[in-house]
Amino acid sequence: MPPRRHVTLALIAIVAFIAFSFLLSSGGQQRAAFDTSIVPSDSVLHGVATAPKLENATVKAELGNAAWKLLHTMMAKFPDQPTEEDSTSLKSFVYLFARLYPCGECARHFQLLLEKYPPQVRTRSSAATWACHVHNEVNTRLEKELFDCSKIGDFYDCGCGGDDDEKAVATTKPKVGSGSFTPLKLEKDGGLTRGG
Ligand SMILES: Cc1cc2nc3c(=O)[nH]c(=O)nc-3n(C[C@H](O)[C@H](O)[C@H](O)COP(=O)(O)OP(=O)(O)OC[C@H]3O[C@@H](n4cnc5c(N)ncnc54)[C@H](O)[C@@H]3O)c2cc1C
Repeated sequence: MPPRRHVTLALIAIVAFIAFSFLLSSGGQQRAAFDTSIVPSDSVLHGVATAPKLENATVKAELGNAAWKLLHTMMAKFPDQPTEEDSTSLKSFVYLFARLYPCGECARHFQLLLEKYPPQVRTRSSAATWACHVHNEVNTRLEKELFDCSKIGDFYDCGCGGDDDEKAVATTKPKVGSGSFTPLKLEKDGGLTRGG
């Protein structure tokens, strides 16, 4: 075979190889873009808290207030009979919340608390009871008044009553929801130290 033909064949082979590699990599990127299965690993869930110390006491208190409201309302809205995936989602959320909470020292304390009291996620009631309990643990450390967790179902409105009067915090009995959403009854997955 003449040397020129060799060179031409080699060039064609290189171009074909580059084109093939490009197709493979762009296909991979497309797959990645549509891949919604983000399953956080243990190192992601339990890694070091990300935020620095929060010096401003007013900001810390406002943040805490809002964060507890979010957490307790989330529990009040959690399904009565969650799927395995619902429970895993809530558990992951709590660990990520603890890791990313924007008050570093609060986050570090909360992570330690989660080691002692892992999130309870088998039912709405056990999740709500667990959240009340860990909030009380924080209250104790901060020398704040404790909350009576037997009243948690009356206090955080799930907003599922179906009328327009959705107060953020209910002072009366929670409204009975339509469909399968029933009022919160207190129970625990097991011991509070057991993971859900
Ligand atoms: C995860 C986390 C960790 C924190 N760690 C720290 C920390 O280390 N140091 C620090 O200075 N601050 C910390 N905070 C903030 C702190 O907990 C308070 O939010 C903040 O001091 C404001 O307190 P507060 O008196 O307004 O009531 P909050 O504790 O914010 O509570 C808000 C409202 O929730 C209700 N409530 C109280 N206890 C319970 C309960 N057990 N269950 C349900 N509802 C309840 C009451 O109506 C109360 O008024 C943390 C907050 C969070 C979310």
